[in-house]
Amino acid sequence: MTHELDIIPGTEWGFFTLPRPMCIAGPCSAETEEQVMETARGLSEFGIHVFRAGIWKPRTHPGSFEGVGVTGLKWLNKVKETYGMKVCTEVATEKHVRECINYGVDIIWIGARTSTNPFLMQEIADALSGTDIPVLVKNPVNPDLDLWVGALERLNRAGIRKLGVVHRGFSTSASIPYRNDPGWKIAIELRTRYPQMAFFADPSHMAGDRRYLQELSQRAMDLGLDGLMVESHCNPSCAWSDARQQLTPQDLRTLLERLVIRENSSEDKNYRDGIDTLRARIDVIDEQLLTLLQERMEVSRSIGRYKKEHNVAILQAVRWEQILSDMVKRADAMDISREAVLAIMTAIHDESVRVQNKILEQL
Ligand code: PEP
Ligand code: MN
Repeated sequence: MTHELDIIPGTEWGFFTLPRPMCIAGPCSAETEEQVMETARGLSEFGIHVFRAGIWKPRTHPGSFEGVGVTGLKWLNKVKETYGMKVCTEVATEKHVRECINYGVDIIWIGARTSTNPFLMQEIADALSGTDIPVLVKNPVNPDLDLWVGALERLNRAGIRKLGVVHRGFSTSASIPYRNDPGWKIAIELRTRYPQMAFFADPSHMAGDRRYLQELSQRAMDLGLDGLMVESHCNPSCAWSDARQQLTPQDLRTLLERLVIRENSSEDKNYRDGIDTLRARIDVIDEQLLTLLQERMEVSRSIGRYKKEHNVAILQAVRWEQILSDMVKRADAMDISREAVLAIMTAIHDESVRVQNKILEQL
């Protein structure tokens, strides 16, 4: 079932004047007035118009730095006055919303731990009813597209039309180089359903490490997303939260300059735009295939251990014949050639036998 959303595109909010990517940048957390002002100064120097800073921080452990609270909203006001920037921060409760409205915060975002929770989403939507403030909804920490859409619907029903999303990846127990699984497939699905909705990627929380920001930002652009929300701090290694993933304003400037941005407006849609978006999708699928293979080999190892315990031979020819013939039948129905399926499955099976034999050889 598709859920209609009545949305005003990000380009019509009047905040993002430069071409793609629309950029929101600033520290993970507002820490001190000096840190906020110094970071905003560095960012405003190269045309960043929207400043972010967390005031209330959702932290895993109590006792970690949980944000400076309302004091930080005064600093955000100073950023507006001094540098003419728009400011945005995260809200998680009705009280946060009221404080943001009182202090004239220009955009608010809902964090990944909050968008998972329909009760909180409804509370926030009710508090926002009757306002015109743009709201960005980060994806829920778990890869649940419906939950994400549900959060958007609640806000939309409360009359919020300046709605956008921030894709920051999903919690995972898989061993990947990033802090969160990019899970681009879900982002692509949401983008396809609501192409007019302002769509940001947050490479900082996806990566968890500044080394990966360039590649993830490029991927977001190749997928045709509108903007980036990036954490930037005047002195990243001393940040009170998320120190490893923040960039100095200067390094953010370099990152943005290195991005290859291809137009994807419908008027000048040409071959290159199309092919790059498709290739980016292929890259995402290939990464998923590799992760699946890794998982499959993990299971093979467990099977190897199990067979060893029970003194059973690795190669089970009858079972293997059965698997192959089932796969070939399915492939026929999917219009994939038998030869291709046989070749791929044989290679996977060979690797699986190799992995199991290795277990057997271990004493
Ligand atoms: C943040 O943007 O600082 C933040 C807490 O992000 P997320 O909700 O994506 O973890
Ligand atoms: Mn952060």
